[in-house]
Amino acid sequence: MDIQALQQLMSSLGQPLFRAKQLFSWLHKGVTLEEMRNLPAALRSELDKTCLTNPVRIIDERISRLDGTRKFLYALQDGNLIEGVLMQYHYGNTLCLSTQVGCRMGCRFCASTLEGCLRSLTPGEMLGQILCANAKLAETDRNARVGNVVLMGSGEPFDNYDNVVQFLRILNHPDGICIGMRSVSLSTCGLVPEIKRLAGEKLPVTLSLSLHAPTDEIRRTLMPIANRYSIDEVLDACRLYVKETGRRVIFEYALIHDVNSLPEHARLLAGRLRHLQCHVNLIPLNSVPERGLKGVSESEIARFKHVLEEEGISVTRRREMGDDIEGACGQLRRHYMKQTDKPHANEEVPE
Ligand code: SAH
Repeated sequence: MDIQALQQLMSSLGQPLFRAKQLFSWLHKGVTLEEMRNLPAALRSELDKTCLTNPVRIIDERISRLDGTRKFLYALQDGNLIEGVLMQYHYGNTLCLSTQVGCRMGCRFCASTLEGCLRSLTPGEMLGQILCANAKLAETDRNARVGNVVLMGSGEPFDNYDNVVQFLRILNHPDGICIGMRSVSLSTCGLVPEIKRLAGEKLPVTLSLSLHAPTDEIRRTLMPIANRYSIDEVLDACRLYVKETGRRVIFEYALIHDVNSLPEHARLLAGRLRHLQCHVNLIPLNSVPERGLKGVSESEIARFKHVLEEEGISVTRRREMGDDIEGACGQLRRHYMKQTDKPHANEEVPE
């Protein structure tokens, strides 16, 4: 709920409107109703009967022995499961959030999409993931908080546009969790109308575009969304995003052995990105056994990166974190569902 929605709630309970602001600020501190001391006891007990302060709870956690990365399995009120990853960098804590239960985009290399999308998350369920992670961090360091958010967990954020934008506005609110838009990255498989729409929202988040291929032919073999939008259309939308927000776009490129990893692919990619204000993030594929796609060797990554550098493209190789805890998209949830035999949806994939 944003402050307006809380004001409506307060007036329906016969409370003065200023209570909404007090409640809003408490909710984002992740405290219990009992701890909201400046609210009257009668109001707190009324809220306790009808409301939830956080619709998400952590039910399993894995901590990487390699780098301290934590993987959380969260349960939602309806029993659905989602996951998230908390990474510690020298500049602070970054939380990778899910925006949907599963995903219906159908990318061939991605574990999140194997059973389709069960439903989209509400803004509260996205905020709740941050509150849970903040509570975990506070167990060892009272002042530690999530400082950066990446919408790179399960789900396609633009397939849940209104809730994601509402989440970003609440996240950014000075009385709330108050994370600046420059500390947020939104990753998309490339829904062109929504990229353009976000460009007009005055929410200058970093746009990460999952490109993964230098040609439409290759992209179509990996990502069904490529049948709907060509790379040219996607890049035009990215140009608009750069123009409207002043932010460079990050292109995600998962290297898949022989499919998109050859030097000629790097040259084609460089040709397409040359006049765009951008950065390329090379991701070694996390192989998903169900999909039969192979990852690349260190020398293949270095060769690809070298070609891009020679062509003047800004590029980094993404550091792998949490390799020992099934850190990649959808892996832990799948593992858990296999054990417990949870039902799944079979949704259509966009043409
Ligand atoms: N739906 C959004 C965000 C979720 S996926 C999107 O498509 O961008 C986050 C990133 O992880 C995307 O770049 C996605 O393509 C990538 N990804 C998914 N599965 C992967 C795998 N097995 N190995 C490497 N990257 C993967």
